[in-house]
Amino acid sequence: MAHKITDTCAACGTCKDECPQGAISEGSPYKIDPELCIDCGACVAACPTGAIVAE
Ligand code: SF4
Ligand code: SF4
Repeated sequence: MAHKITDTCAACGTCKDECPQGAISEGSPYKIDPELCIDCGACVAACPTGAIVAE
């Protein structure tokens, strides 16, 4: 299990700064490395467009 960034990502970069694992990388949309994500949910709370979902 890992969180995932969907197409509604606006590439603002907020989630990347909030992730304690450094699991989020830049892109369009931004991307979460499932090997690093610990499902803490910090990125979900930080995302202004609701683009991040738990799989
Ligand atoms: S916080 Fe949301 S909109 Fe911003 S880069 Fe992350 S997923 Fe995309
Ligand atoms: S759920 Fe937590 S560990 Fe996973 S990408 Fe989001 S902030 Fe990083």
